[in-house]
Amino acid sequence: MIYSNNPHPQSIKSIADAKPVPFWLDDPARPEPKPELTKNISTDLLVIGAGYTGLWTALLAKEENPAREVVLLEAGEVASGASGRNGGFVDASITHGFLNGLSRWPKEVLFLQTIGEANLDAIEDTIKRQGIDCDYLRVGEIDIATEPYLMDEFKETVELAKPYEVRFQLFDREQLHGIVKSPIFIGGIKRFDSSLVNPAQLAWGLRKACLDLGVQLYEKTPVTKLEEENNFVIAHTPHGRVRANRVALATNAYPPLLKRISYYVVPVYDYALMTEPLTPSHRESIGWHGREGLSDGNRQFHYFRTTIDGRILWGGYDAVYHWDNGFGPHLEQRPASFARLAEHFFQAFPQLEGVRFTHSWGGAIDTCSRFSPFWGTAHHGRTAYAMGYTGLGVGASRFGALVMLDLLDNKKTERTALEFVRTKPFPFPPEPLRSVGIKLSQWSMKQADENQGRKNLWLRAMDWLGLGFDS
Ligand SMILES: Cc1cc2nc3c(=O)[nH]c(=O)nc-3n(C[C@H](O)[C@H](O)[C@H](O)COP(=O)(O)OP(=O)(O)OC[C@H]3O[C@@H](n4cnc5c(N)ncnc54)[C@H](O)[C@@H]3O)c2cc1C
Repeated sequence: MIYSNNPHPQSIKSIADAKPVPFWLDDPARPEPKPELTKNISTDLLVIGAGYTGLWTALLAKEENPAREVVLLEAGEVASGASGRNGGFVDASITHGFLNGLSRWPKEVLFLQTIGEANLDAIEDTIKRQGIDCDYLRVGEIDIATEPYLMDEFKETVELAKPYEVRFQLFDREQLHGIVKSPIFIGGIKRFDSSLVNPAQLAWGLRKACLDLGVQLYEKTPVTKLEEENNFVIAHTPHGRVRANRVALATNAYPPLLKRISYYVVPVYDYALMTEPLTPSHRESIGWHGREGLSDGNRQFHYFRTTIDGRILWGGYDAVYHWDNGFGPHLEQRPASFARLAEHFFQAFPQLEGVRFTHSWGGAIDTCSRFSPFWGTAHHGRTAYAMGYTGLGVGASRFGALVMLDLLDNKKTERTALEFVRTKPFPFPPEPLRSVGIKLSQWSMKQADENQGRKNLWLRAMDWLGLGFDS
């Protein structure tokens, strides 16, 4: 079934009182920010940006060498970016899914899968070792079909994955309804190498682990400029400078400090809603006792999951790009997207009529044309960057950090030898072609969803060139 995009009055009513803040950040456990930088300092490693990529970089650097000086600068607060506002799906895949990995790096995909699984295990190990209380659940993720052609695609995925020992399980309608009840769900495919987490609590736990190991954290400290000076990189901030031997840039979809990054990354806004805690009878009406992460398999997809206190997060579908890499807090609320999301929610779960949404928010995704992270260096190898996760960076950011440290320490590892790591995505064209191309791709994806997944000429040409648009 195709979701209808005309919100009913009850859908509009359900979002009327939603607080315009990310649910995860509206938490008494949110730590007091550390003071901003107000002096000039020096360090061995400077990390810029304290989302997962920056936090993992700082933590892994300290774990490897506790004597290393590490400074972490954050423009807002830890987790104020995508890391505090995502769906909390922690996928083992570092290639934005097995199929994307297979189509782009067929020779490496088996190894990339293995690395990704080890990466997920290492995240789980850190959470346990550091005692991070973040509702971590290794429950897997189910992609759901709402139309028969999607089931055919899922079966094809199982066949393609067989030689690579990737574990998938197919569910027919009845089996799926034993897991989650919706009149529009007709089957699904489960991936086992995926977990769920409370995203902000994970980031705050990593923050504490960094501080315990002696990382110097300055929040409310935006870096305004980077420049090379006498074998060091100087980071300028409003009230102080940092002279660093090495710099790790972990600024994701934010306006980049290196011009070259803006050719590869476009900020795409993704939106989400959180319901109030469901009543026991509403809870019973949907089943879903295993708390699996769920998403639907359309090109324009929703992701949805439950929380520890019995709410449902429902996000995705719209992916909004603004002219010339438009970015800022003013783009984090979008009533039309929230109304559409609410309408789709009640189409999927009509038995939840009357449920209200308590929080609505949006955040920027660092979309690149290959949908998976890429790396690079600047300032004669003294600065490195990792970004481009394209909506699947909760797990992959730890791998992003490991590669950045390899690059900064000039280490040749099995990671840096990968074609996946050595190559970059195809750049986006400048405006106005950038906006036109993205709009055309989005329109074509909508058409494909409405035509049994059939791709038009534009999408086929993009596939042929190895390009795409996703969130
Ligand atoms: C709504 C939404 C839902 C998502 N859902 C999922 C999901 O379920 N699963 C998944 O795997 N991925 C998901 N993602 C993507 C995932 O959240 C990101 O890939 C991941 O958080 C990236 O982490 P990061 O540290 O690279 O970036 P961020 O968390 O964005 O951190 C970058 C940090 O850099 C700081 N910064 C930027 N510029 C400067 C500067 N000049 N000086 C100092 N600091 C600076 C920012 O303030 C920010 O805190 C989602 C994203 C969004 C927006």
